[in-house]
Amino acid sequence: MKFTRTGRHLNLNEGLIFERSSPGRTGYDLPRLDVPAVDLGAALGADNLREPIPGFPEVSEVDVVRHFTRLASWNYSIDAGMYPLGSCTMKYNPRLNERVAGMKGLAESHPLSPESLVQGSLEVLRLLADCLAEISGMDAVSLQPPAGASGELTGILMIRACLSSRGNPRRIVLIPDSAHGTNPASAVIAGYEVQSLKSDSRGCIDLNGLERAMNDEVAALMLTNPNTLGIFEQDIVSIARIVHDRGGLVYMDGANLNALMGITRPGSFGVDVLHINLHKTFSTPHGGGGPGAGPVAVKQVLEPFLPVPTVERREDRSYFLNWDRPDSIGKVKAFYGNFLTLVRALAYILANGAEGLREASQVAILNANYIKHHLRDVYDLPYDEPILHEVVFSSRRQTRNNLTVMDLAKRLMDYGFHPPTVAFPLIVQGALMIEPSETESRQELDQFIHAMRCIAEEADTDPDLLKQAPHSTRVSRLDEVQAARRPVLRWKPDEADEQDS
Ligand SMILES: *Cc1c(COP(=O)(O)O)cnc(C)c1O
Repeated sequence: MKFTRTGRHLNLNEGLIFERSSPGRTGYDLPRLDVPAVDLGAALGADNLREPIPGFPEVSEVDVVRHFTRLASWNYSIDAGMYPLGSCTMKYNPRLNERVAGMKGLAESHPLSPESLVQGSLEVLRLLADCLAEISGMDAVSLQPPAGASGELTGILMIRACLSSRGNPRRIVLIPDSAHGTNPASAVIAGYEVQSLKSDSRGCIDLNGLERAMNDEVAALMLTNPNTLGIFEQDIVSIARIVHDRGGLVYMDGANLNALMGITRPGSFGVDVLHINLHKTFSTPHGGGGPGAGPVAVKQVLEPFLPVPTVERREDRSYFLNWDRPDSIGKVKAFYGNFLTLVRALAYILANGAEGLREASQVAILNANYIKHHLRDVYDLPYDEPILHEVVFSSRRQTRNNLTVMDLAKRLMDYGFHPPTVAFPLIVQGALMIEPSETESRQELDQFIHAMRCIAEEADTDPDLLKQAPHSTRVSRLDEVQAARRPVLRWKPDEADEQDS
């Protein structure tokens, strides 16, 4: 099984014209005017007319279709192949859920409609909140936050509100050094000081360290379980007890719920609040910054502080939006969150059922362990503990020849795979964080393992090949900072001018 692809390196400008505009070319055809022409200036008022936008691309239908089809084919997506980006859970999104989210009654439901006309949409929200409470073992859920990080902020603000109501919001949030970068950011935005907890030799929270750090200035411990090494915090019950005994609350980053669904519930091991990434575990395409959802689930202590409105049910079984919650932290997102992402999640949960969700977690865990088993003789495992849904290797054995973990990641593209997460978590030198998810087949996993083994060999025999990789993609090494900070994603008149000049 040899499938090395070493295509020629292609320059963007080589052979292909990016600018397709040609004066006078159009992509539309309007019927001949069959009413008298109107003077727009007179009808609308001259002030309401703008000058025609100069330099607007003039293209035909086929130009447009080819432009976007070509761009799409340069891209990599979960629909094209395995996307083992650790912590991000890039799993296949069943088309059934897209179908449901596209249903007219849901897709065209207006957020300002009177409650009596959108009982079905409200029922969808309520049912999803109840399902998530059941899956997580918590008491109440807000669906409003539009992302994981936004769920974190919502959760920490609720903790602040709860502790303030007891007289003192406290000052510090404890966060393990293996945490996702959004955790400290959320705590700081919510007005807390972050104190980092050093992981122990197993990659887990050190109970003694926590004992020492936990005092009555600490508002909360913010932990991820399974943590970002894919390891379940076995001492979680004792951890929660230590925090609760000193009057703190336990925040769990539940972005990785696909390792736990149907197997265990954060609500039963002492967590007071967690967020759930619907766009990771519950089937919404993500990666391009599109709409997501990071619902927060809470125990009763935090329920009064949930964002408004909550979706509730009256005696007569009708649904309504409850704004009458005096202790609420307020709104965290316009309307009720990203409704169609919520619809997809409910469709996914109902299509799988309890058994199906458990099986999804079991297979996600099995797949990660399969990769761990088949790569552990070539890549270093700095924390060799039992893992759940992801495995973190160190590339230090491969990067001796002046290579970086990025060179290995770039080379993986030549084998037809999206690279895994690299350089995170920070506690692993040259981290390769691999999360296959449950949607990959054994064949796909075998191909990935083969590619990773070939790359380990190339790192020894032909390091230059890796330094120059990828060799098969449309563009090779981009300026990653500019690509993230100043992406040019659509045509804008001033940029067209800039390009001309
Ligand atoms: C993805 C992720 C987040 C942040 O979620 P966003 O929706 O990207 O804001 C937080 N924590 C962990 C562990 C994650 O994997």
